[in-house]
Amino acid sequence: MSSVPPEQVNSQYKGMSSMFNQQNPASASSSKPAGDDSKPPLPKGVVLDKDGKPCRTCTSVASWRALTKQADLKNENSTPTSSTSKTTIPTAGLAAAATPSPSETPSDCPPDVEELGRSTWTLLHSMAATYPEKADAEHQANMSGFLKFFSKLYPCWVCADDFRAWMAHPSGRNQPKLGSRKEFGWWMCEAHNEVNRKLGKKEFDCRLWEERWRTGWKDGRCD
Ligand SMILES: Cc1cc2nc3c(=O)[nH]c(=O)nc-3n(C[C@H](O)[C@H](O)[C@H](O)COP(=O)(O)OP(=O)(O)OC[C@H]3O[C@@H](n4cnc5c(N)ncnc54)[C@H](O)[C@@H]3O)c2cc1C
Repeated sequence: MSSVPPEQVNSQYKGMSSMFNQQNPASASSSKPAGDDSKPPLPKGVVLDKDGKPCRTCTSVASWRALTKQADLKNENSTPTSSTSKTTIPTAGLAAAATPSPSETPSDCPPDVEELGRSTWTLLHSMAATYPEKADAEHQANMSGFLKFFSKLYPCWVCADDFRAWMAHPSGRNQPKLGSRKEFGWWMCEAHNEVNRKLGKKEFDCRLWEERWRTGWKDGRCD
């Protein structure tokens, strides 16, 4: 279903092979001298953007940390040492000591693929929750246009490519259902479940989407 080139496929997808040993597309066409294969393989889960640079919004915070640690180590190894130098603390050691765990990431850092995803699902499901009970032609056209552009512009490009491919299933069965709030909310839930399945996560019971995103749970905990 994916239009993602196999060597750049999202390694978090269940059943798909890791991309750690992939060739960085940028270096593949670079002017590096032949035989210079000193570039270490990318840490597990790091996804590259289409220019061959690591894509932060496509990568989990844990994999991003591994990448920055790798860069720190490389800098440490390539920094000339001097016996008179006072800067004897290795930078990688410093980075490791100062690096918080993913759950402790400050909230004012750029988002990783998961934080971006959570925020975006909040937006998308909230759009469904506030969609008209019966949508007129103009509203439907506006939402259709939004989804079309969204699926091209979403900052995690591998996510966007897969989302677009899912919507464009040749049977037409995954096209946005925009006639009413109920239809659209259910469709959005199914779209989200498609990603949940790919990532090996539990599916959400779509009969509950309105309680989760519109009315609040029946037990009153959101009131
Ligand atoms: C369009 C899109 C495509 C994505 N593609 C990828 C990808 O290819 N690879 C990747 O690593 N990440 C992808 N993500 C991010 C991924 O879906 C998650 O957002 C991320 O992994 C964080 O997951 P989470 O477990 O915190 O909860 P999320 O999946 O973000 O869900 C947030 C909350 O929504 C509710 N929920 C869960 N499922 C549903 C549902 N079906 N319907 C309604 N409510 C639901 C739950 O209460 C949940 O806590 C994508 C995100 C989007 C918006």
